Amino acid sequence: MTSDLAEQLRAVSLRVTRPRLAVLAALRDHPHVDTDTVIALVRADLPTVSHQAVYDVLRALTDARLVRRIEPAGATARYETRVADNHHHVVCRSCGAIADVDCAAGHSPCLSASDDHGFVIDEAEVVYWGTCPDCSEGKS
Ligand SMILES: [Zn+2]
Ligand SMILES: [Zn+2]
Repeated sequence: MTSDLAEQLRAVSLRVTRPRLAVLAALRDHPHVDTDTVIALVRADLPTVSHQAVYDVLRALTDARLVRRIEPAGATARYETRVADNHHHVVCRSCGAIADVDCAAGHSPCLSASDDHGFVIDEAEVVYWGTCPDCSEGKS
């Protein structure tokens, strides 16, 4: 498993380091977590890693497109390793839970703009907002 992650780093010419492997592994097992959660997960493995180191790793992995950063309005940024398939997200207004929603039309970008203004569009980002099952149960 770890060798898969090392492969991913090499494929984008990033040096394989323990913090990078730990961040990738944390996000693979826990999609859509915020930075603080990533730090906590990585520290379970590497207790001495600094906040700054994790921030730097997240930035490098995001820049290399191994990690996707999602920023639902009004929520803290979340990270995931499911990249390049242009999937969307459903977000709970109450607790902030996030789940994946496959691309509406199956291809990226899944929403054809009515007027692309001459841009070459490669991604359409959709956030569905609502109430998750846990929260709607609590209310009724
Ligand atoms: Zn909820
Ligand atoms: Zn996702």
